Formats: sequence, structure tokens, C-alpha cells
Amino acid sequence: MTTANGQLNDGREVYLNGERVADMASEPVFSRTLKVIQRYYELQKENKNHTFFNNGIESSIMFLAPKTTKDLEKKRRIYEEVARESYGMLGRTPDFINTGVAILANYADVLGVDQVNPALDYAQNAKNWAKHVKFDDVFVSHAIQNPQIDRQKTLTELLNAGNEFAGVWIKERREDGVIVRGAKQVNTLAPLADELLIFNLPGLSSEDKNFALAFALPIATPGVKIICRKTTMHLDHSLADYPLSNAFDEMDAFIVFDDVFVPNDALLVCGDVDKSNAFFEKSGLFNHTAHQDEVRGFVKLEFVTGIAVRLAEKLGLSGFQRVEEMLGQLSVNLEMIRSSIIASEVTGKMENGVFTPNMQTLLAVRATLTGYYDEALRVIAEFSAGSAVGVPDFRQFSNVEISTMLKDALTSEQITAEERTLLLNLAWDITSESFGQRQRVYEFLHGGNPMFIRMQHLAKTDLTQANAMIDKVLENARNDQN
Ligand SMILES: Cc1cc2nc3c(=O)[nH]c(=O)nc-3n(C[C@H](O)[C@H](O)[C@H](O)COP(=O)(O)OP(=O)(O)OC[C@H]3O[C@@H](n4cnc5c(N)ncnc54)[C@H](O)[C@@H]3O)c2cc1C
Repeated sequence: MTTANGQLNDGREVYLNGERVADMASEPVFSRTLKVIQRYYELQKENKNHTFFNNGIESSIMFLAPKTTKDLEKKRRIYEEVARESYGMLGRTPDFINTGVAILANYADVLGVDQVNPALDYAQNAKNWAKHVKFDDVFVSHAIQNPQIDRQKTLTELLNAGNEFAGVWIKERREDGVIVRGAKQVNTLAPLADELLIFNLPGLSSEDKNFALAFALPIATPGVKIICRKTTMHLDHSLADYPLSNAFDEMDAFIVFDDVFVPNDALLVCGDVDKSNAFFEKSGLFNHTAHQDEVRGFVKLEFVTGIAVRLAEKLGLSGFQRVEEMLGQLSVNLEMIRSSIIASEVTGKMENGVFTPNMQTLLAVRATLTGYYDEALRVIAEFSAGSAVGVPDFRQFSNVEISTMLKDALTSEQITAEERTLLLNLAWDITSESFGQRQRVYEFLHGGNPMFIRMQHLAKTDLTQANAMIDKVLENARNDQN
């Protein structure tokens, strides 16, 4: 494991600001966020609730395959503790994929064996990989989305038209594995992870056989290129000015596979479109990662709700009825998310020997939370209003010519000038900085296209009672015709 011990110079090819990063540890864009990820591992040593024993072996609680509602509750409490380390700002901490890996072995048989070469046992590969991830507490980063080149064309059409990077495809089959080429469009935290998990969302067309792939590889595999977006950090300022931007840049990256060798034992799907399309749901990963994800989202919503309430108090707005109503709506929203997550645990069911949270409830949370998050940001921006725009650079408080006046001007009964500046900088960071805007887009999109989430929810909604009532009222109406 490189992430847990911070030794990221393992040959990984990470590109930032147009250059290959020579020393990951000395690059603040990575080293600051790395510290937060490492807290995830430290917490296991500090707090025994973060681990469990199985056959005498201690593992992170994330690898517990839940058997009861209580197990889901236990995991939820730890997801919350992990998320609070970054106030919910880091979405792809190791718990996200690992809680899915915990149950992979229970579902792996659906992956079966290769149709041509039955010795190639994808189910067994998945079981072996899950064991390794658990045993070594690996930080796995995942990439599923193919680059948005032209969503109306199949990946094969794009490849045939000359785009070799429209998805990840099998360039060559060998006795001992495959050579893959291509790209995935977003991989959050990939520069800091130990391993990559690559697969597709459902939706590959029957002709996309060569794109039908799922596999896991170390980040430092030759040919894997991690191309980072621009950082949201402001390295010439301190946390006093950018309390979030400068601490938690959860770097997103475009991943290129430049003729990468994937050995047979790293393959989970290879060349089978149906299995690729089923992978996310049928592997069990979907439900359990969603549980972690919604809990992390709840923590973030809690944080921004708290910021809105604090601003109202400290800016002397709390007495206004409209302000109280707006804050009341935020607290109602928070409660809806909190109780829906608990409902997903209580109404879960046994599946493949695993107690599984109710996905309909989690999808409802996913579809709603983005709007609630936006609403909280709008309230923060409205309350902090022009103050957040006119907030002085914190270094002005050290300038003898202006600091006394600044302190006099900005101190109120509720708050000192310096504390006010810190609070307003927090409000600006989360609503208006590139960091805050990225967080907003993350909440909107990271769990999948909102349109598909709602369609997916509708497709599985149980309307038996609704239909019975409608049938009854229509029948009564029909029978009452004059
Ligand atoms: C900050 C951030 C971090 C992320 N991190 C990760 C990560 O770590 N790993 C990962 O795998 N993914 C990650 N994602 C990607 C995420 O999974 C996708 O953004 C999400 O699933 C939406 O897919 P897309 O961006 O390809 O958009 P698309 O699905 O291509 O949609 C883009 C637009 O096209 C429209 N559209 C697309 N298809 C149709 C259609 N059939 N009919 C009508 N309209 C259509 C949509 O309405 C939308 O407006 C991240 C995303 C963000 C924003």
C-alpha cells in the first residue's frame, strides 16, 4: 500500500500543470489531501469501532459484509466519522469502493468464466481480488464513465471513425492477458490511490464487445497516465482565506491507457457485453457504495446547513421571520435525508447472504440531496451577501496602517472582525470559489446522470396500491353512469 504510508513515488505517471509530477509528496496539491486520506487509516488504529475481527484477523469495518440492519447502522456511523474528517468534501475516500468490495465475493459467481477459455475464471478473479483488497486495506479508485465524445454513437462507431480514446478497449488478446487502449473520463482521487477499478455503466451496445471490460490494476502500471485537472488550491494564501480549497482538493483526472497490459488474473469481465452491462448492479457494488455515498452526502449537507445557521446568528439576521423560515426548510431537508438513510437500512433485505440496504430509498436520497445541497448554498450566498465579496484578505489584519480601522469597522456584538472574516471566507469558499463550484457539480453528477437516477427509480417503484385505488375509483365511476 502506497497511500497509507505516503510513498507515492512508485512509478505512477501523474501529470499536473502540463508536466509529469516528479515527487508526489512535495507537491502540496497532493500532499495536503493525502494527509486527510491517511486519517482514514489512522482512525482504524485510534478507534476500535473502525475495525472488526474475522477468524482472528482484524480488518477495516468497511470490509464487513452486513448480515443485519444493525451491521448497516454500525457501518453508517463509521462512514459518518470518516466523512467528518473532510466535512463531507472528499467523496471518494477508501471506504467508498471498499464497502462494495466487502460483498463482492458473495456476488462474484455472476461473472462466471470466459466463454472461449473456461480456464479464465472471472468469478474467482473477483474473489481473489476482494481478498487482497481487504487483507491489504487497499485504496481503490474507480473510473466508469467513458469520455463524452458523442453519446449518440456507439463506442465501436467512434473507434472505427479513428478515436482510440472513446472508452477502454481490447487492442490485443494474449495467452496471459490483454493489451488495452483508451480512456476514462473522470477518476477522482486517482493520483493518490493504490489501485484502479475500471468498468462500464450499463448501456454498451451489442457491437461493443471489445469495450466490454472490467479489471483492477495498480495505479503504477506501465502505460496508465493520470492527467489531472487544474487545482482549486490557492497556494499563496493560508487556510484563513481558503479554509476548504486549500485543504481538500479531491483531484479529478482523465485516465489514459496507452497500450496497458492487463494480466488474466486482473480481468473481471472481458468481451461479454451482457456481463459488462450488468457489472455494477449484479456485482453488488452499486447498493453498498450507494449507502456510503449517501451518508457522506448527509454529512456534507449537515455542514452547509450549519454554516447557514451560523451566518444568520453572526450577521445579526436570526430575528427575521423569513430567515428563520429559510433555515427551517434546510433543517427539514436535513432530517429527510437522515431519516431516509435510516429507512434504507431498516427496510433492507437479505440478498446473496448479505443484508442489503434498500436501493429505492437510497436512489430517492441521491435524487433529492443534490437539490437540498444547492438550496443550502443559495441560502449561504444570500445571507453572506455583499459581505462575502468585500471580505478582506486575511493578511490585511497584519497591516498596521489599516488593521485597527478594519477591526473597528467589522466587529459587532456577535463577532470580532477576524472571526467574521474567517466565517465569510468559509461561506465564499463553499459557494463561490472554484472549489465550491466543483463540489456543487460533484453533488449534482457524481452518482450518475440525475435523469437516469429518476428513470431508474420510477422503473422499480411499487405502484400496486396506487393502481388498485385508481382501478377502484374508475370502476365506481363507470358503475355510476346514468
Ligand atoms: C466532480 C465529479 C467527480 C466524478 N468522479 C467520478 C469518479 O471518480 N469515477 C467515475 O467513474 N465517475 C466519476 N464522475 C462521473 C460521473 O459518473 C458522471 O459525470 C455521471 O455519471 C454523468 O455522466 P457524464 O458526465 O458522462 O454525462 P452524460 O451521461 O454523458 O450526460 C451529459 C449530458 O447529456 C445528456 N444526455 C446523455 N445521454 C442522454 C440520453 N440518452 N438522453 C438524453 N440526454 C442525454 C444529459 O442529460 C446531460 O445533460 C464524476 C463526476 C463529477 C462531476
